[in-house]
Amino acid sequence: MNLQTLPHHHHFQTERMLDHMPRQEAFAAAAEMMKLMSDYTRMRLFWLLCHCEECVVNLSAMMNMSSPALSHHLKLLKACGLIAGRREGKEVYYRAVNSPEANALHLMIEQMAAISCPEIRIPGEESAADAEK
Ligand SMILES: [Zn+2]
Repeated sequence: MNLQTLPHHHHFQTERMLDHMPRQEAFAAAAEMMKLMSDYTRMRLFWLLCHCEECVVNLSAMMNMSSPALSHHLKLLKACGLIAGRREGKEVYYRAVNSPEANALHLMIEQMAAISCPEIRIPGEESAADAEK
């Protein structure tokens, strides 16, 4: 047994935690995604993309932002793997990806901002509730 010891000994079992500490990189990746959410405009954009798929021009209008400013936010969210773009003709449509990370942030935003999912149905989209039927 090569248990690492802590400087203070309080008769707790905390030293066992040292064997179960996840890699630092795992926390760094999570912090990177949370850092993106530290900008409330970007958080709002990400939340929007959790509920609809839209092109840059329409997203700019919805967010009341210039296309270059909006594109900058999209680029950061895409680099972190939270959103994806789909090209159709001349347009690229963006939406949040269906990943544990994106879903966790979606839920976290709604819980922390005390808001809920909009009750709208996007044509062609199936909600989790529908899938169970
Ligand atoms: Zn939602």
